[in-house]
Amino acid sequence: MKKLVIFGATGSVGMATLEVVQNYPEKFKLIGLSAKSNIQLLKNLANKFKVPYLVVESAELAEKLKKGLDYSAEILWGDEGLKELSSLSEVDLLLVGISGIKGLIPVYYGLKNGKLVALANKESLVCAGELLKKIARQTGAQIIPVDSEHSSLFQLLQKETVSNIEKIFLTASGGPFYKKPLEEFAEITPELAIKHPTWKMGVKISVDSATLMNKGFEVIEAQVLFDLPTEKIEILIHPQSVVHALVKLKDGSYIAHLSYPDMKIPIAYALNQGERLKLPVKELKLEEIGTLTFEKPDFKKFPCLRLAYEAAREGNFAPLILEAADEVVVSAFLEKKITFDKISYFLEKTLKEFKINFQVKEELEDILILHQEVCKFTKNLIEQRL
Ligand code: MG
Repeated sequence: MKKLVIFGATGSVGMATLEVVQNYPEKFKLIGLSAKSNIQLLKNLANKFKVPYLVVESAELAEKLKKGLDYSAEILWGDEGLKELSSLSEVDLLLVGISGIKGLIPVYYGLKNGKLVALANKESLVCAGELLKKIARQTGAQIIPVDSEHSSLFQLLQKETVSNIEKIFLTASGGPFYKKPLEEFAEITPELAIKHPTWKMGVKISVDSATLMNKGFEVIEAQVLFDLPTEKIEILIHPQSVVHALVKLKDGSYIAHLSYPDMKIPIAYALNQGERLKLPVKELKLEEIGTLTFEKPDFKKFPCLRLAYEAAREGNFAPLILEAADEVVVSAFLEKKITFDKISYFLEKTLKEFKINFQVKEELEDILILHQEVCKFTKNLIEQRL
């Protein structure tokens, strides 16, 4: 039986993970759950599964949670709590579904302590990919991707050597505005941007899907995970969201991974280390779908894609700068301080103008400080323009 901790338990990935766990109580034992601030839901989950360790964002929330529990649990909080929960000796496996740079904390300590990390958090690979790979090599820990495209690639590449791979393709639904004329982009409201056609997700990632920045981050993630140069990573717009990734091999053949979009598939694959589990998912009937279409993305309409490729090619801390800037820019858009069409403008400006003014050691603390510095820089940029 694998002993599991879920970080970001009350989010969409966390809840899908609990569904998998609930279906296989003989395979997984829940040791810990973390949630940012949805205390009501965390309390319900904790009482239902009697989870021994719980982590929330603040001491105040920890106090609130404690009052609602009908059993006794160890309640931790803050960054220290995340660190402690990811380092517990009795834990084998972490599912990291926290969104944002905070997700880096459990990933970092989990890998340091030799755990298997099922990774749904994008920011950690984008901002600290090389560092995380180095730690994993040192401790023998493993990262298994849970992001649907990367899980598909991970599955497709199990039996292929790098020299066989000519190209990999990440698919994208295109988001809600793929067909919208560019001239109308300035009128896109936050309300429209957070309605994603395929996946039900958090607000920030929904905006990232609408700008295709999310797909851009996925290119960076793929580069880190599969050690491929950016020229070998392509994006295909595929509105049906049935094919999640394809690989072109040197003999001219393609292999692809298909399913209805359901996070339980990549989650179960990662948690069970590649051994397939029967899952309560909708059966894929290709004859009902009939047509699968693919086209190249429009880089003019979606400049975030170009920025992601540029950052990926530049390497070093460029992906981190892009990701940190995006956090601030998307918030400004959600607060209606800037319009949708200006998102890429502020990202590009930050990428070009931000200068690192201290010696960044490849360690967690320095990476988190650098991330904060970029956020401050972008905030200033936006305020100057208002
Ligand atoms: Mg994805």
